Amino acid sequence: MTPETLVCPNCAEPHPPDERFCRSCNMPLVISGAEALEQPVSARHERARKIDPRYIEGDLVRVAGAMNQAEAEFVQGLLLEEGIPSTLRRTRGFDVPDMLAAGPRDVMVPAAGRDAARDVLLEAEIVRDEPPGDEPAPWRVLAVLLAVLAVGALVVWLGTELAA
Ligand SMILES: [Zn+2]
Repeated sequence: MTPETLVCPNCAEPHPPDERFCRSCNMPLVISGAEALEQPVSARHERARKIDPRYIEGDLVRVAGAMNQAEAEFVQGLLLEEGIPSTLRRTRGFDVPDMLAAGPRDVMVPAAGRDAARDVLLEAEIVRDEPPGDEPAPWRVLAVLLAVLAVGALVVWLGTELAA
């Protein structure tokens, strides 16, 4: 920390700290380098500044897998360039203690950022082993099954109605 130095904003003449006005121009003195104190911005602050508020809504969804922490952080960096916040999770099945440091990671983003994240990752050719489109969720299989049953029931019902 350097000691504060008073300077004249007009002639830039330095003055001792007990002076309040420039001896030659009578201007109120200012602290030299005051704006420099606001310069250091932490990495965390820089990161927060980049995040697009459109992408912070919703539950976390997986958008990519990474072989290790370093690769996962590289993916996070790519996403952040587009304003997409992300977090890492250890891939399920690899959460045994000696895999903590080295195991694969899932890259998770808020649901609102999923489409944007996929675009980024596809462009960067990060998503390579992902199946195209969504995996069939159990509820979706059930919905299809129910739809088939409903159509079948309707056909049976129509059959009995027409026969009556
Ligand atoms: Zn002056």
